[in-house]
Amino acid sequence: MSGMYDLHTHTIHSDGDMLPIELIRRMAVLGYSTVAVTDHVDTSNATTILTSLAPVRESAQIFGVRLLCGVEITHVPPAQIAGLAKEAKAGGADIVIVHGETTVEPVAPGTNHAACTCRDVDVLAHPGILSIEDAMHAAKYNIALEITARAGHNRTNGYVVRVAREAGCQMVVNSDAHSPHDLLDERARFLVAKGAGLTDAECRDVLSLEIDRFLSS
Ligand SMILES: [Zn+2]
Ligand SMILES: [Zn+2]
Repeated sequence: MSGMYDLHTHTIHSDGDMLPIELIRRMAVLGYSTVAVTDHVDTSNATTILTSLAPVRESAQIFGVRLLCGVEITHVPPAQIAGLAKEAKAGGADIVIVHGETTVEPVAPGTNHAACTCRDVDVLAHPGILSIEDAMHAAKYNIALEITARAGHNRTNGYVVRVAREAGCQMVVNSDAHSPHDLLDERARFLVAKGAGLTDAECRDVLSLEIDRFLSS
């Protein structure tokens, strides 16, 4: 059994309210062991964001949290997603997530497909009405599908669980936090998973996923 993780959070480096270290401190107090900071990026800022975040790894370690330096590729044309994901990994990203086709924003059609067929992508966030074909690509490339706590994006959680199960995809539960009140304590995190339709056994597996192993496989 590994500690709690959250692989999708935002800071003042995009549209969040907290400095990275405030977010980390609050997550340490909640009992998290692994937190990915994944601010919104496009082709203008991916490298800059990763460079500025890197020194916070050490501060996070002092608070007992493993910081994963990441990005969330957001509203980028699908044809440019693979290139930007590769650039982010080359620029030091521990984790690359893609802002999927949530039903509450005009995300470009084809974004889910581009993410699910890219080896440099680790998590497809809030995928909306993801096709079974794309879910099968995600399973093949070991890309996790996100079950999200975020209001609006969470409308399709039940659907995502069904497609993920059918395709055999890894699932992860993330907050997509932008503010302190978005952070999930242990019970809230369990309820997001359970509320999305996961069985108790699936909740246990998904919520205690060993992140190192997932990211290295
Ligand atoms: Zn945001
Ligand atoms: Zn996000």
